[in-house]
Amino acid sequence: MAHISTGDLFRQAVERGDLLGRKVKAYMGKGALVPDEITIQMVIDRLAQPSKQKGIILDGFPRNVAQAESLDRALKTWGKAVSKVVYIRVSRSELVRRLSSRWLCRQCQVPYTWDGVGDAGTCRECGGELYQRADDFPETVKKRLEVYFRDTAPLIDYYRQRNKLVEIDGEGDVKKVTGRIVSAVSGRT
Ligand code: AMP
Repeated sequence: MAHISTGDLFRQAVERGDLLGRKVKAYMGKGALVPDEITIQMVIDRLAQPSKQKGIILDGFPRNVAQAESLDRALKTWGKAVSKVVYIRVSRSELVRRLSSRWLCRQCQVPYTWDGVGDAGTCRECGGELYQRADDFPETVKKRLEVYFRDTAPLIDYYRQRNKLVEIDGEGDVKKVTGRIVSAVSGRT
């Protein structure tokens, strides 16, 4: 399946310094959502590209009800629909802990957890430098969580009412949570 992450697409545009990157940089830096007209257009353009892959995993999109409605409308015109939405339930304190200890490889974007003790090191996959996302600093994390509970959490009911929601217990280590997601998505529980 193709993996489309709106956050990655925006970060790449900021890195390139192109028109899209210049438009979205300030919103991202504040932990705010990028305006819907920019985000929806970017996703629809990406979805319209021909692909040999069997399906798409959307990561970080939709982030509010207007985006979900636009996605439904666009997919309908292609005779398609969202099949499942994975809701990974995690406590607020665990979210803050994970975001503040997240480090990424600058080259290949693989995420690592680093608690700040000793040296963060380099990427085990490609040897690239590890860095912390500017919006994972504490003040911005607080803002992003506010935005999540105000704008994104209503999507839980939106997809539950449409029988698309798959709920996962997100507490525990990466391996356990991955196993739960794979079982639930593939219909094995
Ligand atoms: P993420 O990597 O998904 O945490 O996204 C990082 C930042 O990119 C967010 O805090 C927003 O500023 C922006 N962003 C990503 N996805 C969306 C979206 N669907 N709608 C609006 N802004 C988004």
